[in-house]
Amino acid sequence: MFSLPSKTYTMNADPTEIQKFSEIAHHWWDANSEFRPLHEINPLRLEWINANAPLSGRQVIDVGCGGGILTESMAKKGAHVTGIDLSDKALKVADLHSLESGLTIRYQQVAAEAMAEQEPGAFDVVTCMEMLEHVPDPQSIVTACAKLAKPGGKVFFSTLNRNPKSYLYAVLGAEYLLQMLPKGTHDYKKFIRPSELAQAIREAGLEMTSLRGMSYNPLTRMYSLNADTSVNYLVACRK
Ligand code: SAH
Repeated sequence: MFSLPSKTYTMNADPTEIQKFSEIAHHWWDANSEFRPLHEINPLRLEWINANAPLSGRQVIDVGCGGGILTESMAKKGAHVTGIDLSDKALKVADLHSLESGLTIRYQQVAAEAMAEQEPGAFDVVTCMEMLEHVPDPQSIVTACAKLAKPGGKVFFSTLNRNPKSYLYAVLGAEYLLQMLPKGTHDYKKFIRPSELAQAIREAGLEMTSLRGMSYNPLTRMYSLNADTSVNYLVACRK
C-alpha cells in the first residue's frame, strides 16, 4: 500500500534529483531501459545481503527504494518489506508492480530522517543502495538508517567511489560511451570514498563488517563482487 507523507520533513533532498528519477520512473521495470544496470546487479546484491543477513521473516526497510527492484526481491525472499523514497512517481510504479507480482509491500513517501523519528529501532535489516550519491547530506541518511535498525540489526549501503577511474567508468563510460545511463545521472562531486563512508558509519554508531567492490565487465556485460572497490562498492554494517 502506498501512502503520502504524514508530516512535513526537513528536506535533505535535491529536488532536481527526485525530478530526474520521476521523469523516467515509468521505465523502471523495463530491463532494457536506463534501469538495466539496477536489474543486472540485483541478483548479486540480493544474494550478498541475504548471506550477511538472512531475510526470511525479517522486518526490512529499503531506503531510496525507487521502483522497487531490490525491495520486491527481498519480499520474495520472505521478508516483510517497507520501501521509502521521495519520488511519488517511482513509488506509484513500485506499488503497481508489487500488485502485479502478488507481493505485499508497504511503500511510503517519506524522508529517511522522518521515518527514523517515526519508527526507530523497528527493522532487522536496512538497505540503502545507489542512493547516497544523490543526496545533499549523506551523513544524515546514514544516521537515519542506523536509527531505523534494531540493536544488532544489519545496515547495507552501496554507492560510487570518487577517483579518476570512477569518473571514467561511471560518468564517461556509462553515460557517454556505452550510453547505459542518461547523461547527468551521476554528479561526480557527490561520489563518496569508502573512507568517507566508513567515517559516516562510525559517526552513526555502526560497525562496518564488510566492504566489497562490484565491477562491470562491458564485454561479458556481467557484474561480479570482488575486492576492487575503485568504482561501485557495497558496505555491510552491524548496529
Ligand atoms: N535503491 C534503488 C533505487 C536507486 S535510484 C535500487 O538500488 O534499485 C536512486 C533513488 O534514490 C531514486 O528512486 C530517487 O528518487 C531516490 N532518492 C534520491 N534522493 C533521495 C532522498 N533525499 N530521499 C529519498 N530518496 C531519494
